[in-house]
Amino acid sequence: MISVPSPAREALERLQAAGFPAFLVGGCVRDSLLGRSPDDWDITTAALPEQVEQLFAGERLIETGLKHGTVTLLLAGQPLEITTFRTESGYADHRHPDSVRFTPSLREDLARRDFTVNAMAWSPATGLQDPFGGRADLQGRIIRCVGDPRQRFEEDALRILRALRFSSQLAFSVEQSTAEAAFALRQTLELVSRERIAVELTKLLCGPKAAEAVREFWPILAVPLPELEPMAGLDQRSPYHCYDVLEHCIAAMEAVPPDRFLRWAALLHDVGKPAAASVDAKGVGHFYGHAPLGAELTRGILTRLRFDRETVRRVTRLVELHDFPIAPPEGSPERAIRRLLGKLGEEDFFRLLALKRADALAHHPDYRGRAADCERFEQLARQLLEQQACFRLKDLALNGRDLLALGYPSGPLLGKVLKELLEAVLSGQLPNEREALLEEAKRRKPSA
Ligand code: ATP
Ligand code: MG
Repeated sequence: MISVPSPAREALERLQAAGFPAFLVGGCVRDSLLGRSPDDWDITTAALPEQVEQLFAGERLIETGLKHGTVTLLLAGQPLEITTFRTESGYADHRHPDSVRFTPSLREDLARRDFTVNAMAWSPATGLQDPFGGRADLQGRIIRCVGDPRQRFEEDALRILRALRFSSQLAFSVEQSTAEAAFALRQTLELVSRERIAVELTKLLCGPKAAEAVREFWPILAVPLPELEPMAGLDQRSPYHCYDVLEHCIAAMEAVPPDRFLRWAALLHDVGKPAAASVDAKGVGHFYGHAPLGAELTRGILTRLRFDRETVRRVTRLVELHDFPIAPPEGSPERAIRRLLGKLGEEDFFRLLALKRADALAHHPDYRGRAADCERFEQLARQLLEQQACFRLKDLALNGRDLLALGYPSGPLLGKVLKELLEAVLSGQLPNEREALLEEAKRRKPSA
């Protein structure tokens, strides 16, 4: 039995009552059977799109993909994708069907779907419809193509990445012939749009079994991410390391929370190492300048995958700073933490700490001590934040208007003085108190 939200139930009932077989299908059936809460509720039906539109004429409808048979219905605020049973054929571009044909057969509709676990349908009237053994594969935790894997990947190369992505998200293994076909046909990923690749890769990296998926399938991932290739097998020749560069990055990725900026940054944090590698007279490996180099490569990779500017900027900055010491080994770290909090903002500051901690944990077991420093810095930073310490100009207990009121001329001097005052607060020379700052501002005011 599946617990269905009432709008989806109502839509199924109205279709059924009008004489059209209708089922929940795909991800929502899979996730419900797994006891996970589905992201979206998709309905598949024998009704043609015009018939769906007629039946729900009083409701909000969006013609999402009318010629492919998809109408989005908004029922009590819940979006429902209703798609007519269809088959697809002729995938000349390895991505899109050349023709789509509506069919009265549920089985044909399920047969066009990618994996057995995604090819189940359910309705209150009929219960589970599972002609391809999806339920057994759910139980066995297996991703298996519906039909011949080679043919299915030749039809649509994106399915190769979807297989890896679901294995990471659901902690499933990829069935052997499906995995073999994915390896054999990996080059066809070059035909898939970069945006779609980016979406699947990000989902893969944020899944609970991302490390396993990258470890097992990196040669496939290296088609859209050729920069991974020279990382694999690159011996670091260093007592600090027990892994090659790729495995080190995978281990770091495993140790950061499943946040997309962090997972990308962890995977790529040492992408600059192959080009920066050198070996000294004693045979020890060094990677001078690998962080800025890695940042440049990361910017290139993410831009190529058409990520938005903000993502590119943040991930690149994390890679650039991953090797940067948070605080000097001696003396109080508060000042350094305040500065960095001000520079990066709270979110990215904590991301950087998480990345540095994970990087440390991915070193040789004898050299993981820096992870504890990161944890200490994190605690300290949380304390500072609780005390509402001042990190940025906007936190300063004085602003431009105050300076004008003191008789400062308007112009760039205002910003300059505010910055100097912030510096003084950050370094502990001045408290972040209005009176004290006013005094100092008066003292600094140029004589007219
Ligand atoms: P998610 O939780 O990511 O939404 P999902 O299984 O719902 O997972 P969608 O991309 O929303 O994935 O697709 C919905 C359904 O459509 C899938 O379950 C599958 O049956 C089918 N499907 C999606 N993409 C493909 C594809 N490239 N080839 C074949 N079938 C596909
Ligand atoms: Mg979905």
